[in-house]
Amino acid sequence: MSEFVNSIMAMVKAKNPAEPEFHQAVMEVVESLDLVMDKHPEYRTSKIVERICEPERVIMFRVPWLDDQGDPQVNRGFRIEMNSAIGPYKGGLRFHPSVNLGILKFLAFEQVFKNSLTTLPMGGGKGGSDFDPKGKSDNEVMRFCQSFMTELQRHIGQFTDVPAGDIGVGGREIGFLFGQYKRIRNEFVGVLTGKGLAWGGSLIRPEATGYGAVYFAANMLETRGETLEGKTAIVSGSGNVAQYTTEKLLDLGAKPMTFSDSGGYVYDEAGVDREKLAWVMDLKNVRRGRISEYAEKFKSATYYPIDSGLDYNPLWDHKADCAFPSATQNEINAKDAQNLLNNGVYVVSEGANMPTTPDGVELFLDKKILYGPGKAANAGGVAVSGLEMSQNSLRLSWTREEVDGRLSGIMKSIHDASKAAAEEFGTPDNYVNGANIAGFLKVANTMLDQGVV
Ligand code: NDP
Repeated sequence: MSEFVNSIMAMVKAKNPAEPEFHQAVMEVVESLDLVMDKHPEYRTSKIVERICEPERVIMFRVPWLDDQGDPQVNRGFRIEMNSAIGPYKGGLRFHPSVNLGILKFLAFEQVFKNSLTTLPMGGGKGGSDFDPKGKSDNEVMRFCQSFMTELQRHIGQFTDVPAGDIGVGGREIGFLFGQYKRIRNEFVGVLTGKGLAWGGSLIRPEATGYGAVYFAANMLETRGETLEGKTAIVSGSGNVAQYTTEKLLDLGAKPMTFSDSGGYVYDEAGVDREKLAWVMDLKNVRRGRISEYAEKFKSATYYPIDSGLDYNPLWDHKADCAFPSATQNEINAKDAQNLLNNGVYVVSEGANMPTTPDGVELFLDKKILYGPGKAANAGGVAVSGLEMSQNSLRLSWTREEVDGRLSGIMKSIHDASKAAAEEFGTPDNYVNGANIAGFLKVANTMLDQGVV
């Protein structure tokens, strides 16, 4: 480890104890930035990296609400406003029992570089709560969202901080949050993205992250003169990102074969087709059921419940060409990565944030497969959120074709910028270094322009 990486990591660990995901995310970025520091001593003298690792503001608050029995419940709410150099803070809200300060700091940190890569003027932030929407009634989710927004509203705004969805926060939750913001502030503005189409949302926003991850894979394949046509794919998750990854894979002639949730996964040898996908969308978005039901409905599929005694996830141990991790962080460990490689997978495009552990990433890079890290590959979601903000400001709605065209153009420019930066800094085809460096340079140069603030 270089003296630069060592000193940054010592500082980050001392200031943020017991936040392993945040340490992991910072480590991955500063290892890439090590390649930049000799060429740019000004970043060291201005302590740009030290400043980028320190959130501009961290907000933590109590979220009290009444359940359906009339009993009080209490959760913790967060918003990490990480960096506003190039635009208002922008990043999703996650509602999941695993949410804590360290996980949100890792996500907010990643968001800074991702948003910069999109070419749109957005800073980085992230927020959420340890609230678990699973098993709650619509009324409980509404009361929770209203209480959450009652505090959050004083910290956000269309020009300050514009949250969106993430795990556990979809169209239903954004609706309840927006309703409460509007009621308290008495203003109808684009303070959230992922809104419904009738009240300021953008076409293609729900699809954007999954579509974008598939476009990114297609861009990587194109560098080898290949396409997704006829390729087999393993997809994890069964939420927003997994669903639209599957849809775009079908559009481009690939054969997706899996879905998962926190209970286990299904492997469908015959492949997931449009009818099965529509059934999963209804299962997950309307009936809010479990993926195990897929194997009861479709006989070509087998369900494998999670076996916590295993040190690997058998989901990643099937023959395929491509993998699209679309559930959560650290879902592919080194053993899973090795299993993917042994099974012939040579394209990994990350819809989820940081789904691969560092030793897994190392294996992918060593084997020189086409590996698109989340901060580049899943930037389509926030990119279309940025386009939603533009449409809100213009008070216009673009067509599906217009937004999808812009999305695919943005994914291509993220791909090309990452590839070019990897090459410029001596590690051709390493999209990890490329994305980290390309995302960093714009933010770092802006911070130099704006002085010590
Ligand atoms: P959803 O809540 O719609 O779906 C999440 C899926 O992942 C569900 O199938 C869920 O299963 C599963 N999952 C969540 N946590 C775990 C866990 N700890 N172990 C196993 N499975 C888990 O979320 P999204 O699809 O929106 O998000 C998925 C990933 O994509 C996240 O990493 C998110 O940060 C990332 N992402 C999302 C963007 C977006 O626009 N939505 C943008 C960029 C990145 P279960 O229902 O059982 O919990």
